[in-house]
Amino acid sequence: MTRQLVTDTQNTWCPGCGNFSIQHTLKNVFAAMEEEGKSLDDVVLVSGIGCHAKIVDYLNVNTFYSIHGRTIPVATGIKLANPNLTVICCSGDGDSYAEGLDHLIFAAKRNIDITVLIHNNRVYGLTTGQYTPTSPLGFKGKSTPSGTAEYPLNPIELMLASGATYVARGYTRKMDQLKNLVLEGIAHKGFAFIDVLQICATFFPVSDYYSSRVYELSDHNRTDFESACTKAREWDYNSDAKIALGTFFERSLPSFDEKMGQHRINAAERERAIQEFLITRT
Ligand code: SF4
Repeated sequence: MTRQLVTDTQNTWCPGCGNFSIQHTLKNVFAAMEEEGKSLDDVVLVSGIGCHAKIVDYLNVNTFYSIHGRTIPVATGIKLANPNLTVICCSGDGDSYAEGLDHLIFAAKRNIDITVLIHNNRVYGLTTGQYTPTSPLGFKGKSTPSGTAEYPLNPIELMLASGATYVARGYTRKMDQLKNLVLEGIAHKGFAFIDVLQICATFFPVSDYYSSRVYELSDHNRTDFESACTKAREWDYNSDAKIALGTFFERSLPSFDEKMGQHRINAAERERAIQEFLITRT
């Protein structure tokens, strides 16, 4: 029997919130996985704290509602405990670009085989509108009534520099493309990072700004690191430049969980050899 993918839990996101698009996209991703014969019993969805995090209440797969900034270490632990699972992280820009930034960088560096979607609405929505690391210079929010004096972080550039083996950007108003990016990220053996430009309808409603600037990366060689860096710098999350959507970079490297699995095998072999040695000595 095909499972009901959306739960009956009452949804409390604001009308017009981009999180609905991400939820719908993941629902379509799960349906596509089922169609390919994959069991959703082997999927785990992990979230942190923030508006994004409620998604684990709304989708009917195995889920873990973690704590602020710790989405990625929880997902890493799940993947290491059972490498056969498909582990997907939904995290926010406040969750993983601020509180949990070190975890994001080290997950990319280690190349742990998880897929991370950042619901990047560029504002703390749940706490009613403070600036985050990706808010633009001059952003006026609850904590910066005169406008923030900080330049935003460029997460695409950061992830490239951190060694992520799959780096992409999607947009909540381009749901078909986002679905393909998530499916690609899941199929990728290693750390897959997708920054999702998500509309916060209440505190940062910039859909016109995005919609007039986004374009799809088409003639771009995703295996060319230098070219990926150039594309990443085109829009710095602050300027009026065009905004590239799609896969910036992909390369194949052994994943952290594969390497740790080999360590476990080596340790078991060592233990067996010691036991055999001790038996022959007695
Ligand atoms: Fe969505 Fe923003 Fe409302 Fe949070 S505050 S539910 S991100 S529209």
